[in-house]
Amino acid sequence: MTRIAIPEGSLFGLANLPYGVFSTPGTAPRVGVRVADSVVDLAAGLRDDVFAAPSLNPFMAEGHARWVEVREQVLDLVSEDVPDEAVHPLGAVTLHMPFEVADYVDFYASEHHASNLGRLFRPDSEPLMPNWKHLPVGYHGRAGTVVPSGTEIVRPSGQRKGETAPAFGESRRLDIEAEVGFVVGTGSALGDPVSADDFDERVFGVVLVNDWSARDIQAWEYVPLGPFLGKSFATSVSHWVVPLLALEAARVATPPQDPEPLPYLREKNPWGLDLDLAVSWNGQVVSRPPYREMYWSPAQMLAHMTVNGASSRTGDLFASGTVSGPARDQRGAFIELTWGGKEPVTVNGEPRTFLEDGDEVSITASAPGPAGDRIGFGEVTGRILPAR
Ligand code: CA
Repeated sequence: MTRIAIPEGSLFGLANLPYGVFSTPGTAPRVGVRVADSVVDLAAGLRDDVFAAPSLNPFMAEGHARWVEVREQVLDLVSEDVPDEAVHPLGAVTLHMPFEVADYVDFYASEHHASNLGRLFRPDSEPLMPNWKHLPVGYHGRAGTVVPSGTEIVRPSGQRKGETAPAFGESRRLDIEAEVGFVVGTGSALGDPVSADDFDERVFGVVLVNDWSARDIQAWEYVPLGPFLGKSFATSVSHWVVPLLALEAARVATPPQDPEPLPYLREKNPWGLDLDLAVSWNGQVVSRPPYREMYWSPAQMLAHMTVNGASSRTGDLFASGTVSGPARDQRGAFIELTWGGKEPVTVNGEPRTFLEDGDEVSITASAPGPAGDRIGFGEVTGRILPAR
């Protein structure tokens, strides 16, 4: 039997207990919970085959009451001696995609980011479009190219604007978007909108997202239907899904919304999350985006996504859009941080604007826990490979 040691200040203490999917040499991927620097095998520890699946989807589909029950069972399990066969050192496991992505939607919920991008892409107009404060603007992304942290990202090629005719070639303005993603646990039927007040019943947990973006491809293709190939080549997510149940103490009121949104977007107490993100570029922190600044709440995004009667499914991922705060060093995309490439940042002594081959970007985050401790989200990391 093993008693898992939790060092003082661990971001993965008993208040967190995030879920992921792992394997050990010679065994199939299955569900585990991270405690400090160990991974606890839930199929072995709780003797429940729903955790022997290679994704969280079967467990998430069991619904909110089971999420509460299992969280209590896991807490009991890891607070005592755990059977040896259920405990693995983090360094001895391979982590996989934690859930099977059903549909992927990407929002644009930061007023700071939307205003900055408006100034950069449309310098002669109002930064925010007339719809922006009336609905959470979003688009449907490509679920099949959502990949787990650590997956290498091949530089995309495509069309970009040329002098007299479009040019084709590898993207020269490859960028990141530091975002927070919400994972739907239980879906909703076609024709049935989800109320913002039902968010807790529907949404299982939270991941970190890096929505890689090719700005030159995007700028040429996006009118009038929005992002397409400039975004769809890859979106990375963190390995650990932090349950919404672990984030009660991290809830904060959203910034004031003026004008008041339409009734279907109203919540009794609109809340966001007090997450501190950090973006590292080749090991150097270049930005610290604060999620608490986001204008639209996660519940408003879910309500908006289904208000037309679109169904939702277990494994749906909806991401917040780039998290940016008011200060320069709080911007969650390099196009904003370097103001379209005109104001380079210094990375390890060199002036940098967009991503070069071999660059590695890592996004981390933490949130307040219930007792003055912090809850960690792990990281979402990716390295750029040359175009093929
Ligand atoms: Ca995005």
